[in-house]
Amino acid sequence: MEVLYKSTRSEGGEVTASQAVLKGLADDGGLFVPTTIPTLDTPLEELAKMSYQEVAYNVMSKFLTDYTEEELKDCINKAYDSKFDTQEIAPLVKADDKYFLELFHGATIAFKDMALSILPHLLITAARKNNVKNDIVILTATSGDTGKAALAGFADVKGTKIIVFYPKGGVSPVQERQMVTQKGDNTHVIGITGNFDQAQTGVKMLFNDKELAKELDAKGYQFSSANSINIGRLVPQVVYYVYAYSKLVANGEINAGDKVDFVVPTGNFGNILAAYYAKNMGLPIDKLVCASNDNKVLFDFFTTGDYDKNRDFILTTSPSMDILVSSNLERLIYKIAGNDAIKNKELMDELNSNGKYTITDEMKAQLNDFYGNYATEKETADTIKELYDKTGYVIDTHTAVAATVCDKFKKDVNDGNKTVVVSTASPFKFSRSVLDAIDPKYDALDDFAMSDELEKVANVKTPKAIEDIKNAPVLHDLVINPEDMKKAVVDFLSK
Ligand SMILES: *Cc1c(COP(=O)(O)O)cnc(C)c1O
Repeated sequence: MEVLYKSTRSEGGEVTASQAVLKGLADDGGLFVPTTIPTLDTPLEELAKMSYQEVAYNVMSKFLTDYTEEELKDCINKAYDSKFDTQEIAPLVKADDKYFLELFHGATIAFKDMALSILPHLLITAARKNNVKNDIVILTATSGDTGKAALAGFADVKGTKIIVFYPKGGVSPVQERQMVTQKGDNTHVIGITGNFDQAQTGVKMLFNDKELAKELDAKGYQFSSANSINIGRLVPQVVYYVYAYSKLVANGEINAGDKVDFVVPTGNFGNILAAYYAKNMGLPIDKLVCASNDNKVLFDFFTTGDYDKNRDFILTTSPSMDILVSSNLERLIYKIAGNDAIKNKELMDELNSNGKYTITDEMKAQLNDFYGNYATEKETADTIKELYDKTGYVIDTHTAVAATVCDKFKKDVNDGNKTVVVSTASPFKFSRSVLDAIDPKYDALDDFAMSDELEKVANVKTPKAIEDIKNAPVLHDLVINPEDMKKAVVDFLSK
């Protein structure tokens, strides 16, 4: 059955999957959503026997219905190959009373690789299918991980250019170094003197700038987005929920059909939304546990029904979750409004003008699939240490936020289900915070000595991604004010 995509902010205007991937954002500023969520019709026992790539085809082909089998398999095989340091692609590790779904075995050792390894291929295929002659310009705001993962995915991909904006001082030293050392003539990395939300708002304004679009079209360029609002990011993320479930079945941890809970460290709400889509496809998921750090807008939203970004922006040790406007939440709002674009637009307009909105009681009643909680900085650090002391397994700060919330959830809601904690970054990406949590004595070390130490502590080899940047030269050093983002884009594309 063909699945079409439409905007969350107006009726009509349905497009094919490949068109939605190409456009990124709908013309009215809304996000593309599938008009129906397809059903997972392959028996779970059968999925349990499949490789990651096979599960990926199984799931993605249901959403991306205008890609041919050959096209989609080609994208999958190019994405999930030896760029990953394990054949399993997304291994499931048991530690203490939890399962950790490790999504950090790709090129940049964080979960964004899961989608950004395949997005360039989905995009180039989409351009070919839709007779697009322009070069595709990827415009991205990053809180740290998306930027590098997108750069790694798009570097030197023919017919594309990529421009990444990051908050100067708002990402970890390793994240910054990974970005500013990025090779590839088609890459451009720019720091802004502001926070992630300002970077993201700036990028959204550029996307909605009709004048700029015309100007660029004349030069043979068009924008697309690698941010998690692109449906081409969301769909590949549904895959690993199905894969994790099928591994639990394959390993005899559950019987096919048993319910499991997933705990997801959340920022922009893309990862957990993919879990929600997996549940809506029919995967036996009970609760979707939304874990936040001190920027707990989502916890407040799930508890009260009020979304309110008017608060201090807190820099934490889990920077990829330091977000006050979770863009992908719009897709959930649209759904619980009864697929009502008008109602959704009203709420998003309120968010735009007042920084807050309140959902109706009927909408709130549909949030039963979710449980929200948060972890403080101290709780996060304590969890890293406790798990390490107990099992020797070392997790990063983002994963530790989720593990902390997992414990709170188990205490609050004793449903007896097996629980999978989604592990979104390698501890090597945040080695200082991780080692500080284990023992303050490490704090005197510099960042690269940290990886050597972590290698001993965790008994895991330093990932190639870290080795690669140790001696790499800085190739991008531009820092600008948020107001000058447009000028920076025009300058780069006029070169
Ligand atoms: C991006 C990111 C998150 C948050 O994921 P969202 O899809 O934005 O909710 C969590 N952890 C890490 C390490 C990330 O890079």
